[in-house]
Amino acid sequence: MKQPDRFPKIPLGIFPTPIHKLENISRKLHTNVYVKRDDLTGLGLGGNKVRKLEYLLADALQKGARVVFTTGGAQSNHAMLTAAAAGKLGMKPILILKKRGVTERVGNLLLEHLMGTEVLFMDTDDYADIYREMDRRGGSLGVPYYKIPCGGSNALGVLGYVDCAREIRDQGFHADHLICAVGSGGTMAGLALGAKLFLPGTEVHGMMVDTDPFEQITPALMREAAALLEADVTIRPEDFDLLGMCGPGYAVPSREGNEAISQMAKEEGIFLDPVYTGKAFAGLLKMAEEGAFRETDHVLFLHSGGAGGIFTV
Ligand SMILES: *Cc1c(COP(=O)(O)O)cnc(C)c1O
Repeated sequence: MKQPDRFPKIPLGIFPTPIHKLENISRKLHTNVYVKRDDLTGLGLGGNKVRKLEYLLADALQKGARVVFTTGGAQSNHAMLTAAAAGKLGMKPILILKKRGVTERVGNLLLEHLMGTEVLFMDTDDYADIYREMDRRGGSLGVPYYKIPCGGSNALGVLGYVDCAREIRDQGFHADHLICAVGSGGTMAGLALGAKLFLPGTEVHGMMVDTDPFEQITPALMREAAALLEADVTIRPEDFDLLGMCGPGYAVPSREGNEAISQMAKEEGIFLDPVYTGKAFAGLLKMAEEGAFRETDHVLFLHSGGAGGIFTV
């Protein structure tokens, strides 16, 4: 097997990210809750996409790309971080975003404005239309271009979170439960595969903040990444656990999510976002309420970032 940190990757962030205990929340929940601070990955406003982009943009550079296309919702954290990273590496980012949600110049769109990023909107619900548009525009550029899928969730992007699991092991931290948000599935797939490889005894729980069929998407991404690593593993349904925390819809704040955001802010002085991490932490609180954690358990919550979204609601 190839080690994930030996795969071509370009340094973009500051790693390892810290792990620390949430003392007040632990006391309230009668267990030991820790946070892995991937909101502090060091590029842009931080967030999980930095780990994926280290692999994806290394591939883009290796292929001689001058232009990098990606997509997402209007307020995509992934798109904003791709623009930040591509610009830093001397490539031109072009974002083709779904014309859905908050399209005013606030949140991530404001940050893209500050970077002078070329942002286009497409009035479609189907990413296939957007990938076709990337090829149409890319084909007429006359320079090599590179396409990154929504959320950076392909096999290469998933390696970022396989490597995060390796990083947690190297930090000497044992988690009984590892909890993350699931938006396009790559983070969860990487952590679940990484746990299988590096974190024996850790259960990975994904909190779904969208309604895509993650029961199929997750193992498919895990298998693709395992193939890339030439890892001899069999992916099984018990390798991951999924919980629906979407509420009224993707990128629509939920009551539980908002309460979780307030609790984390008041008790720990840490800000979660309304689209991903607020809803994911609400899932952790729900699990605690249902008695999923023992008093001696170590529960590790991945704070995957999303600061740009806090200022849009
Ligand atoms: C993209 C994103 C996620 C979800 O990660 P996926 O790999 O797309 O499932 C979680 N949190 C934040 C802040 C994100 O931007």
